[in-house]
Amino acid sequence: MSCLLGDIVDFMHNWAPVGSAQSYDNVGLQIGRRSQEVSNALVALDLTPQIIQEAKGLGVELIVTHHPLFFKALSNLTDKTLESSMALEMAENRIALFSAHTNLDAARGGVSFELARTLGLTNIQFLSGLEESLLKLVVFVPLEFGDSVRTAAHDAGAGQIGAYSHCSFSVGGTGQFKPGSDTKPFIGSSDGQVERVHEVRIEMQVEKWNVPSVLAAIKNVHPYEEVVYDLLKLEQAHKNCGIGAIGDLSTAISLNEFLQLTAGRLGNKALRVAGHASKMIRRVAVCGGSGSDFIALAQAAGADVYVTGDVTYHRYFEVLDHLGQPTMALVDAGHYETEQMTEDLLVDKLSSNFPGVEWQKTRLRSSPVETWVLGSD
Ligand SMILES: [Zn+2]
Repeated sequence: MSCLLGDIVDFMHNWAPVGSAQSYDNVGLQIGRRSQEVSNALVALDLTPQIIQEAKGLGVELIVTHHPLFFKALSNLTDKTLESSMALEMAENRIALFSAHTNLDAARGGVSFELARTLGLTNIQFLSGLEESLLKLVVFVPLEFGDSVRTAAHDAGAGQIGAYSHCSFSVGGTGQFKPGSDTKPFIGSSDGQVERVHEVRIEMQVEKWNVPSVLAAIKNVHPYEEVVYDLLKLEQAHKNCGIGAIGDLSTAISLNEFLQLTAGRLGNKALRVAGHASKMIRRVAVCGGSGSDFIALAQAAGADVYVTGDVTYHRYFEVLDHLGQPTMALVDAGHYETEQMTEDLLVDKLSSNFPGVEWQKTRLRSSPVETWVLGSD
């Protein structure tokens, strides 16, 4: 049994749309052809030479990673640098590479949701919905074409609000136009008469990354030579894409007990923390990877503690009040450690959707960072 790489790419992008990735990111198919057959695949947080060797030993056709290989442009494909050498090795061995990075961070059930589940949280929600991702599309259609335009737009993905699909609002009115001399109008003629027609105004929310396909679908069925539509920016955040996650522990425990739990679940030898050991913790905010920019969001959401990675020294001051006391505990549990559960998440999700493919997670730790503890050899 096998499947096409293109089908895996489409499934992943349906769950974690490319357009929901951060602008600096480079997600999706990194190496390979969509037409490639895949029967064995390896999942890892990062691509490393050791993981490529593991993949070769397992005979896989695909490696799925969280962190993309290509961030900066390569000027050659030689064995001189880490990135180009790995790309060359992958291509020589006909192993494809697919990466789901900040789009998987933003996905419901993605990286931060999995971190929250790993820490035993319930009632898991986004810490914040994704901003600047929604538009309002307003289109004007002759009355008798309203249903077909509405259906085409919804089928292309417009009108999704939370768990509801096919959401739109319509109201009738009178449209007016005067065809120019070079036109081929659907109604009237190009001889300069003003035309009036019963139209319906249809409005619906559209994700910004879906706008081209929704407009194409509308233009495909709309009878006018010049389709009239408005695209308006919306202030509200996306409900199904977001940043970080927040949830509750089943019972309140002290910060010290919470740190024990966190280190145990994430496999840390040490944690960096600001907060009082006896502070009671119930509401927990998390963000897998580098989440320092969302400290204020965690505070605003009423978190007792915020767990993320890559917290630099000055960021810890952001949780102190005017007396220098922490109002929310802040824990740096490591970039790799707060994201490693993404490997299990991807194996589970891809196994259940592509059962004909043998999915395995790497047995290697891809992080180059170790914690040296005083007293260790
Ligand atoms: Zn990361």
